[in-house]
Amino acid sequence: MIKYVAFFFLVLAIQQVLGQTQEEKIKQIEFEQELARNAELNRMIDQGVNLMNDGQYEEANIKFKEVLKAAKVVPSDLTYYFGKNSFYLGKYKQSIDWLNKYIELKGTKGVHYEDCVTLLDKSNQAYLIVRDKERKEAQTVLSSSYEIDCGPTGKVVCPVCSGNGVIIQRGAFGDIYKTCPYSDEQGYLTCDEYNLLLKGELKPKF
Ligand SMILES: [Zn+2]
Repeated sequence: MIKYVAFFFLVLAIQQVLGQTQEEKIKQIEFEQELARNAELNRMIDQGVNLMNDGQYEEANIKFKEVLKAAKVVPSDLTYYFGKNSFYLGKYKQSIDWLNKYIELKGTKGVHYEDCVTLLDKSNQAYLIVRDKERKEAQTVLSSSYEIDCGPTGKVVCPVCSGNGVIIQRGAFGDIYKTCPYSDEQGYLTCDEYNLLLKGELKPKF
């Protein structure tokens, strides 16, 4: 009887071991699949980097976006490459966001840290200029391409003197009051005068 019991437990033990190895096998396969997937992603990143270094920024962008879509977790180096490529594409805001992300992830110890900071600096400067230019362009379009309709009164409050009719110049020895050279005494411009003023073509009366 004892023999049978011993045998029974032996069978149980063997089953357990077999079960474990089965589970381990699945884990092993999953692990290998994960490795293969990462290798594939790294290969795609390398291709993107090569394209970027060749100056093919649009193609590199497509490649990097593929990786972003496929990766469960974004590899930290990719945030740097994507940010760098965005800079070359003239997408400065995007560049700033991703380069900052890299520094966030890697801190000052990242391999690309120095390069990242230099690029961030350039991106920030370029972004300021672009924003400035866009603002000026918006202004030019607004003031030169369109006639402003001033409404039924045909009068507009003068933006130079804010409708006061006088311009106040603050000086060290007190304020100086000057009659506004553009508007009438009530501080109004006619619509024609207003449109000329917007285009920078309204001549002062005195
Ligand atoms: Zn005025």
